[in-house]
Amino acid sequence: MDHHKIKKNLEIMIENPKCELNYNNDWQLLIAILLSAQCTDKKVNKVTPILFEKYPTLLALKNANIKELEKIIYPLGLSKTKARNIINLATIIHDQYNDVVPNNKNELLTLPGIGTKTANVMLIEYFKIPAFPVDTHVARVSKRLNLCEPNANTKQIEQALTSKFQKKDWADLHMRMVLFGRYICKSRNPKCHDCLFKGTCNK
Ligand code: SF4
Repeated sequence: MDHHKIKKNLEIMIENPKCELNYNNDWQLLIAILLSAQCTDKKVNKVTPILFEKYPTLLALKNANIKELEKIIYPLGLSKTKARNIINLATIIHDQYNDVVPNNKNELLTLPGIGTKTANVMLIEYFKIPAFPVDTHVARVSKRLNLCEPNANTKQIEQALTSKFQKKDWADLHMRMVLFGRYICKSRNPKCHDCLFKGTCNK
């Protein structure tokens, strides 16, 4: 199936694509994305209200007791690493960026715990700057729909997607692919009977 048709089908199946993480400002979103590593958005949304009530500013997070922070985010996994990254991140954004998250990829990538996917999600979701983040869902869906080579790595998938689709569509398509992968084309037991790609994908 060509990529135009794939885009159309994703638009039909995923009607209202939007980020499922809750946040009130730039740094809360950045931390929510960081916390979502190897964890679901639903779980993150249960923990962030508690976290941001206890630490309502970057300064409060910078001065947080790491053990207390670890305890709050424990249900999300990787709590030691995530707590350390949050405190370091809060310190840098407070001290060096005047409490404002930088709006470009190069600077985002210098922040603790922020990799390409997190930086790209921040760019499209908060700053409305085109990017095509590749998470586990986008990677799986791209392979099943033959949008990239079967053994492509994250960078190669990003290259394949950004060369096939127009820049103006990247953010929207990214979100549709995430939600399609999360709810329909799941890793295990995909809902193929509900899928417009049935019989054409390579699963
Ligand atoms: S038919 Fe099944 S495996 Fe193929 S794209 Fe649809 S949900 Fe995924």
